[in-house]
Amino acid sequence: MKTVVVTGGSRGIGEAICAAFAREGYAVAVNYNKNREKAEKLALSLSQSYGVPCTAIGCDVSDSAQVSKMFDDIERLLGGVDVLVNNAGVSSQKLFTDITDEDWRGCMGVNLDGAFFCSRAALPHMIRRKSGVIINISSMWGQVGASCEVHYSASKAGLIGMTKALAKEVGPSSVRVNCIAPGVIMTDMMKSFDEETLDELRGETPLARLGTPEDIAEAAVFLASDKASFITGQVLGVNGGFVV
Ligand code: NAP
Repeated sequence: MKTVVVTGGSRGIGEAICAAFAREGYAVAVNYNKNREKAEKLALSLSQSYGVPCTAIGCDVSDSAQVSKMFDDIERLLGGVDVLVNNAGVSSQKLFTDITDEDWRGCMGVNLDGAFFCSRAALPHMIRRKSGVIINISSMWGQVGASCEVHYSASKAGLIGMTKALAKEVGPSSVRVNCIAPGVIMTDMMKSFDEETLDELRGETPLARLGTPEDIAEAAVFLASDKASFITGQVLGVNGGFVV
């Protein structure tokens, strides 16, 4: 049985990714930061629904020491990691000149450092086994930039660069690294947007709807599968055509 770790698995896109991998028969490590109860409930319900081992693991991915401990715990509880989904993320809207040092570091810490720490911890096992998949959840704003989200856009563009460079480095070890760049997906992250803005975003989307967490989860399952065995270093836009 393969093991997947999904960072930020307690809510939104991460929760849907955990569910999709459990459905596919993976053992699932549901990482959470603050929402322990939600993550534990999810792990229990996925174990019961799909008969696979699932466990909730708390860790702030921006903290290197916590990440190392999390991977040790996962290896002990579920075995070595076959698939890592770097999904944990934070966002905020601010004028560029209002972004504080703390805002910048906080955003980079979770969105970019977190993916670095987790990938570095997961890779030795993958390289030894000559098999493994890393999927980074970037954003279409990392591809084209979002006004008033410069820190977020920069962190997500960084993930795209990391994906491409790491794919080249670990490809010879048969480890694949890809990126998903979601469009507008209805989760807590979009809570601060009013109905009018959401309507505008819908209007700018050729497929005329906003995305669901499941849209992203299905893409992640595909990229992890053998059906994607010749795909590495790529950015898969799942955005209804918003960015083409
Ligand atoms: P969300 O609903 O706000 O959920 C964020 C998740 O990240 C939660 O599970 C949260 O865990 C976790 N998290 C936050 N800080 C963390 C930390 N320091 N350590 C570990 N986990 C942490 O967001 P979402 O919309 O599902 O977004 C998931 C990913 O997709 C993010 O990387 C986001 O940038 C990206 N994305 C989202 C959209 C969108 O429109 N929603 C579009 C493009 C890209 P706790 O709840 O346990 O604290």
